[in-house]
Amino acid sequence: MKQLFYGGVHPAEHKELSEHKPIRPLNKAPAEVVIPMSMHIGAPCKPVVAKGDTVMVGQVIGETAGLGAPIHASVSGTVKAVEPRPGTGGTPTMSVVIENDFQNTLHPDCKPRENVDALTPQEIIDIIRDAGCTGMGGAGFPTHVKISSAVGKADTIIINGAECEPYITADHRLMLEHGEKIIGGVRFIMKALQLDHAYIGIENNKMDAVAHLRELLGDAKDVTVKDLRTRYPQGAEKQLIQAITGREVPPGKLPADVGCCVFNAATTAAIYDAVANGLPLFQRVITITGGAVNDPVNLIAPLGTPFSHLIEEAGGFKGTPARVIAGGPMMGFAQYDMSVTMGKASNCILVLSKDEMPKTDPNPTCIRCARCVNVCPMHLTPVFMNMYGKQRRWSEVEELRIMDCMECGCCQFICPARIPLVQQFRTAKFAIRQAAAKK
Ligand code: SF4
Ligand code: SF4
Repeated sequence: MKQLFYGGVHPAEHKELSEHKPIRPLNKAPAEVVIPMSMHIGAPCKPVVAKGDTVMVGQVIGETAGLGAPIHASVSGTVKAVEPRPGTGGTPTMSVVIENDFQNTLHPDCKPRENVDALTPQEIIDIIRDAGCTGMGGAGFPTHVKISSAVGKADTIIINGAECEPYITADHRLMLEHGEKIIGGVRFIMKALQLDHAYIGIENNKMDAVAHLRELLGDAKDVTVKDLRTRYPQGAEKQLIQAITGREVPPGKLPADVGCCVFNAATTAAIYDAVANGLPLFQRVITITGGAVNDPVNLIAPLGTPFSHLIEEAGGFKGTPARVIAGGPMMGFAQYDMSVTMGKASNCILVLSKDEMPKTDPNPTCIRCARCVNVCPMHLTPVFMNMYGKQRRWSEVEELRIMDCMECGCCQFICPARIPLVQQFRTAKFAIRQAAAKK
């Protein structure tokens, strides 16, 4: 099978730790959840509840004014506080803290919808908006906005089941155990976009999921399940589009510019739950894994559950962890405060042991081998971006198109000098954005 996009790497997968662990609910519900009001691209939601209010599961607790998606209570109970709390992004985030009454009382609006076949495209989009659906693979783009802006422009729908980052198995288990939701969800998307075909792209290290979805589809021709050669970062939108359609999204352009609209597998299942079951997005599947937890697991957990609680559900720390990461080892963010909580885009908590840590060099020196250039899927020149970045020559770094860097980490992974390239690029991008804002 030939490689279908430029660059990329194939790191050790480590998925065996959790890929055979069926999704399970929490053994013990959290005593409180801390739900951030910013779990999407766009303006943070405005809390619409106050301390002392009682709330039910699925009740709106945060509303959006502009680009964004509403946020719902994930447990029933009493609002304990509305205040900034530590976030996985490193800065305090306005949050609604709910003390769990352990009754799991569902809001009366959360009930299966009748006559879903009679829904119009616009009604489907409105339901997706009201349910707070956003991209659950990382970016957190509001799903109703993605669909609305692609109506009449996109000719190709792609469901992203690549899950290309090492260790993470949440989407894999979801496709295996809830494949009917993925297929139901993609058909709602097709109706909303008024298209009669869609692809589901899955890497060939998950052939059981490929076979399962094909079996569910039977003779139906409206959805094609494509198995793809395993290669990181195939789960990135632009790379997945190229792998499936052969179309290349030009620098600075969006998938819609080449007629494509991509949805994460978990988002697709959430769309099904919203439209068919009347359930807003208040829970998700998350993998807790790595060599420094006792019992790696795939959990379905309420949004706002603290990392400390989720790690306990995975048997707790095994020895002293070397690093806790929100996300995968390539694109995730290191966490230092276990009171941070999971959000709509939290697909993994990775707890690395000392042996699993990438090797570092206290005085890394570039040997100009150009391996970083060869693997960059965005056709960038990390070697020069790093060189000018170290000298804080931001205009040169910008000319090298650093803003197109998706921080996939391929360059850093392959670098024999072990230069922390991604960290350098994040710093450079931050400085460039700040300079632009000042102007
Ligand atoms: S891979 Fe590392 S050592 Fe080689 S050119 Fe790139 S930055 Fe330099
Ligand atoms: S420069 Fe950016 S996009 Fe290119 S390989 Fe490195 S992290 Fe990925």
